[in-house]
Amino acid sequence: MAVKMENRGKKPNTLYLVVPCYNEEEVLPRTAQVMRDKLNRLTEAGKASRRSKIMFVNDGSRDGTWRLIHGLCGQDPVFCGLSFSRNYGHQSAILAGMMAARAHADMVVTIDADLQQDIEALDRFIECYQEGCEIVYGVRNNRNTDGFFKKTTANLFYGLMHVLGCNVMSNHADYRLLSKRALDALAEYREVNLFLRGLIPTMGFRSDVVYFDVKEREAGSSKYTFGKMLTLATDGITSMSTRPIQLITFMGFAVVLFSFIMIVYCLVDWAFGNNIPGYTTSLIVSLLMGGLTIFSLGIVGEYVGKIYLETKSRPRYIVESFIWKEPEEKTENLENSEYSEESNNSETNGG
Ligand code: UDP
Ligand code: MG
Repeated sequence: MAVKMENRGKKPNTLYLVVPCYNEEEVLPRTAQVMRDKLNRLTEAGKASRRSKIMFVNDGSRDGTWRLIHGLCGQDPVFCGLSFSRNYGHQSAILAGMMAARAHADMVVTIDADLQQDIEALDRFIECYQEGCEIVYGVRNNRNTDGFFKKTTANLFYGLMHVLGCNVMSNHADYRLLSKRALDALAEYREVNLFLRGLIPTMGFRSDVVYFDVKEREAGSSKYTFGKMLTLATDGITSMSTRPIQLITFMGFAVVLFSFIMIVYCLVDWAFGNNIPGYTTSLIVSLLMGGLTIFSLGIVGEYVGKIYLETKSRPRYIVESFIWKEPEEKTENLENSEYSEESNNSETNGG
């Protein structure tokens, strides 16, 4: 079946910006202003329709983030928001936002709340979409704003992912555009262990890359603690690759081979009467074997744990509130507009 190119680029398409927010009250007022200005410029230039919106996803913030989002939604229908029942993490927040936006948008761009990612790159994202791309990846030009530790661990992580055979794009951090078609495909994936940077490239589709400069955080501090980074990294590896388990099998095989050689050696030694008690050797060997066994068990355990979570198929997030207002363009006056503020206690991922 020939792919119908919608009205891509012929008339302005509807763009939704999905912005995950976790304790972002310091930066949010500025973010809202910058994003609204940018969206206005895009609509005036005919690059985005007047039905376009900015969707904030409150990921269980403990500060006044949701209050601010609520206020913004009341002030201007360009804003909409949804709030989780607790902190589910960045990946779940962007997935929820994309799934909620899917019903209204032709294209969705996920972008961080701290304005580190250059919002001016949006024009190029939209151009790629208009040329027929279903996925556009934002890739940072450099890591100058990262500290030594973050830079090193990130490079290590991407290196490891490539060694393990995962198709992740280096220096791409969830600043990306997905078309309605790509979002519909993403909705079919039901996995609980979510690593979107690895998952999305596996969907195929025509895609392109947009390079952008990373800036300093406008306000507040990083919400990615070391623990969150470690969880993301293990989720990334264990959800995309089973090669660590294969590696264990190879390691086990090598150790068995080595032990076999050692047994033969010991027996020969014993036959020649050289049975001096090898205390050091046996200590080293048993420590090595013990360490290797526990480490291997740990890796296998990681996977078993993940299987456990997947089979339970719990919702990936729980949406507590959702605020969305019918765009003014369609309804002309506000009296006819539909203002929905609902409470929802299930996953809004449409399937
Ligand atoms: N974030 C989130 N949930 C979390 C942690 C972070 O939604 O549990 C959001 C955060 O509000 C921001 C984005 O994810 O919009 C990226 O986080 P941050 O800028 O703190 O990370 P960094 O740029 O330091 O890696
Ligand atoms: Mg940031």
